[in-house]
Amino acid sequence: DPAAVVAVVTGGNRGIGLEVCRQLAAHGHTVVLTARDLAAARAAAAALPGAVVPFRLDVTVPGDADHLAAVLAERFGRVDALVNNAAIHYDTWQRAASAELDVVRAAAETNVYGPWRLAMTLLPLLRASTHPRIVNVSSEGGSLASMGGGTPAYSMTKAALNAVTRMLADELRRDRILVNSVCPGWVATDMGGPGGRPVEDGAAGIVWAATLPDDGPTGGFFRDGRPVPW
Ligand code: NDP
Repeated sequence: DPAAVVAVVTGGNRGIGLEVCRQLAAHGHTVVLTARDLAAARAAAAALPGAVVPFRLDVTVPGDADHLAAVLAERFGRVDALVNNAAIHYDTWQRAASAELDVVRAAAETNVYGPWRLAMTLLPLLRASTHPRIVNVSSEGGSLASMGGGTPAYSMTKAALNAVTRMLADELRRDRILVNSVCPGWVATDMGGPGGRPVEDGAAGIVWAATLPDDGPTGGFFRDGRPVPW
């Protein structure tokens, strides 16, 4: 299928990331399902129908990103979609005026520098694609328009991730790489807890951004395919 893409998903072993992998594979795309635990990546990939390749990737480890890029270069020669989904520390237990900065710092490694580094490391492979897209899975918790003092590590790092989206979108326009932030909404996962909407709904807006047409948006922040305020 000439329209099939090669997509890399981080944190693909559970939650929204796993469902993004499932939906992409169901659409006939080739999915590189990455997880920081190789056994978890393998188990998740084996349970999905379609072309799903398990790979070990801790987004905080630069060598993991380098290794992934080398293997993808050899195997596919390109990456069409990078979905930066992995994240940590929805820190409902603390507030901004009394925050543990070590928690904030750890969140930044996974939620900001991880996605940023992976985009840079995969850039030659994205440039080799005819329809390259980067999706940064963010949150309206990172929206400056409505930010309060709760979940400081999470809110600050998602706001910073949105800044990375804006910077990369602008700089990579010349490479025709569409870069967007997507909020999945409140979704029932380990992070979201019970009560949120099903993973299918949260993942759909991410898949939409990963498979945008060439005249699709770049540098935007979306939920369910509709713009949300920064
Ligand atoms: P989960 O906590 O259920 O899953 C998080 C995933 O990230 C796991 O696969 C986890 O792997 C992985 N991960 C964590 N750290 C690393 C790392 N260093 N390297 C690689 N993978 C890592 O989260 P959700 O599925 O709920 O969230 C997915 C995305 O959606 C996140 O970006 C989150 O911020 C965002 N989001 C979620 C909302 C919700 O309501 N659920 C709302 C708004 C945004 P492991 O199994 O090894 O821990």
